[in-house]
Amino acid sequence: MTQPTKAEMAARVTPRTEVALFSVLLERGRQEQRKAEGRFLFTCADDGLSLAEKFTILGEEVGEVAREALTNSRRRLARDTEGTDEALYKELAQVAAVAVAWMESLLEEGSCERPAAEATSHA
Ligand SMILES: [Mg+2]
Repeated sequence: MTQPTKAEMAARVTPRTEVALFSVLLERGRQEQRKAEGRFLFTCADDGLSLAEKFTILGEEVGEVAREALTNSRRRLARDTEGTDEALYKELAQVAAVAVAWMESLLEEGSCERPAAEATSHA
């Protein structure tokens, strides 16, 4: 059996995936807006942060996902706040956007292979 092409794999993306990815895109833009406003000195897309600092930022966001999961009203295991699915979704988008920003910095360095043009519309 032959391996699917990148275009075939991309074609398997569902509308639900596209909505989730759009949420990540909006969050990634929000990060840049907050940096422009001076609320952040850097994002993980910048080369002014070390790998350890970028990991710390990602870990902070993962911690916020953990808090939302542990306090979610469907199975509330901690009682300090009441987590909601909406807040959990936002925190997951923030984790993904931080990861995307970090990926951008690796692409900028040229140290990682870019996806082939067949699979992207912005190649
Ligand atoms: Mg967060």
